[in-house]
Amino acid sequence: MREKMVLYFPASVVEQPLTYSLIKEYNLMVNILKANINPKMEGRIVAEISGKKEDFEAGLDFLRSRGVKTFPLEQEIVWVEERCTHCGACSVICPAGALVMERPEMVVRFKGEKCIICEHCITACPSRAMEVRY
Ligand code: SF4
Ligand code: SF4
Repeated sequence: MREKMVLYFPASVVEQPLTYSLIKEYNLMVNILKANINPKMEGRIVAEISGKKEDFEAGLDFLRSRGVKTFPLEQEIVWVEERCTHCGACSVICPAGALVMERPEMVVRFKGEKCIICEHCITACPSRAMEVRY
């Protein structure tokens, strides 16, 4: 099987060679399409992972056991602008700089290309302006 996945690495594991383990121990091909580490040292990789189904599932189970969140690429975070009150709660907790308070206007902007799909903003937003969509 072959699937494009988003892998979110918390700061505690970002320096561990976990993707190497996918290749070496689980016989998977990992084609990294996009990778970034934000200033708080959390990381996000978008990768195409391929291999036998049982290896694929075992490899993802291994990542999850180490605290890595895994999502199919089609999952995304959406900012519903009309619900946003620009309270700024999300911009304070967003670890990737994807939600920023612009000054001096004091309006929040969502930069989806920086989002690492950690979902912190989903629970932080009092207006339900942040959603996960599939
Ligand atoms: S899910 Fe929300 S808090 Fe997390 S990186 Fe994306 S915009 Fe920021
Ligand atoms: S927490 Fe919600 S309402 Fe507040 S600025 Fe962020 S998206 Fe807008």
